[in-house]
Amino acid sequence: MSRAPVLPGATVGVVGGGQLGRMLALEARRMGYRVLVLDPEEDAPAAQVADGHLRAPLNDPEAMRELARRSDVVTLEWENADVDALRALPEGTRLHPGPHVLEVAQHRVREKEEARRLGLPTAEFRPVATREELHAALREIGAPAVLKTSRMGYDGKGQVVIRDPARADEAFAALEQRPSGVELILEAFVPFRCEVSVVCARTAAGEVASFPVAENVHERGILDVSIVPARVPESVEREARRIAEALTEGLDVVGLLAVEMFVEEDGTIRVNEVAPRPHNSGHYTWEGCATSQFEQHLRAVCGLPLGSTELLRPAVMVNLLGEDVGTGPFPVAEALAERGVALHLYGKRESRPGRKMGHLTALAATREEALRLAVDARERVRRAVVRPA
Ligand code: AMP
Repeated sequence: MSRAPVLPGATVGVVGGGQLGRMLALEARRMGYRVLVLDPEEDAPAAQVADGHLRAPLNDPEAMRELARRSDVVTLEWENADVDALRALPEGTRLHPGPHVLEVAQHRVREKEEARRLGLPTAEFRPVATREELHAALREIGAPAVLKTSRMGYDGKGQVVIRDPARADEAFAALEQRPSGVELILEAFVPFRCEVSVVCARTAAGEVASFPVAENVHERGILDVSIVPARVPESVEREARRIAEALTEGLDVVGLLAVEMFVEEDGTIRVNEVAPRPHNSGHYTWEGCATSQFEQHLRAVCGLPLGSTELLRPAVMVNLLGEDVGTGPFPVAEALAERGVALHLYGKRESRPGRKMGHLTALAATREEALRLAVDARERVRRAVVRPA
């Protein structure tokens, strides 16, 4: 059942006030919506550009209720929200994506089970709770394999590669610091040729639209570069989008679903993980596509028609982390020295290594030229910044 659309002038409530919420808020305000952000940080990136800021812990049930009361539709930029608190919101609250989607996206075992239920390939995997289960899983899956926490893993945190089964106990011990009660998952190590992702949108009425495939390069588990179009055959491009669309429909997502996948040498694609929100690997859409992922998310959760996902020009995005931007003034002139490069800074006051501070997107006539522009711009930034002694 689809309800009447949420129209401009209405208030969009966003759980989480980071850079994803900030870019969502900027697009929402462009379209005439009001934005209310829930985030504990006084100067949260999204709060800086929103109409209102509810300053409270993200999982505070009372704060969530207030957010729902003051918003016409509630969405999230953060998939680890407390599902019970969201379920307890008053009847009639419009919440997209729904708790059923978050439950899957919060748990690596459920993600893979859902993908398989829909007939989509993943790496071999086993849930693991004890050392004994880890040894048994390693015997079945073989090494190398990747041991991960099932929940709250992001940017490569909470995972260890096991190359030698004799060292399995070490890997288990390394992840034991995890919050107690959090299960682990053992996955076969996928010998991928490249990693790709697809951001896909769906409305409550069932309209679906996927964005072009991004090829992603990670550094120490954190996204470093997204290249679009991905350097994959046309058949892989088509199949990756089909998989993302099938997951979005199969999980009954309203909003966005970002799907990260591995591509093997022979073109086999395996689903790695999903996030029901705008995604770092979709930032290129801001300049690169007819509709940005943020506008698309907003359209989907508000029940508007989806926008065109056409790629306007080849696009490359590079992340700017704390170590790239240093702690002094940002070297804007260096970043923008060549035409075709767009600068995004998230307004975070404190720069720390590994923290996402901003990104650069380059558009050009060819993917190779866009890649050169983006990488060169970041190199100039890195050379110019002041780093702590
Ligand atoms: P994730 O947190 O699952 O996105 O993992 C972070 C990064 O670790 C991925 O982007 C891959 O580069 C690598 N990785 C994770 N799982 C596997 C796997 N099963 N096989 C090979 N590499 C993996």
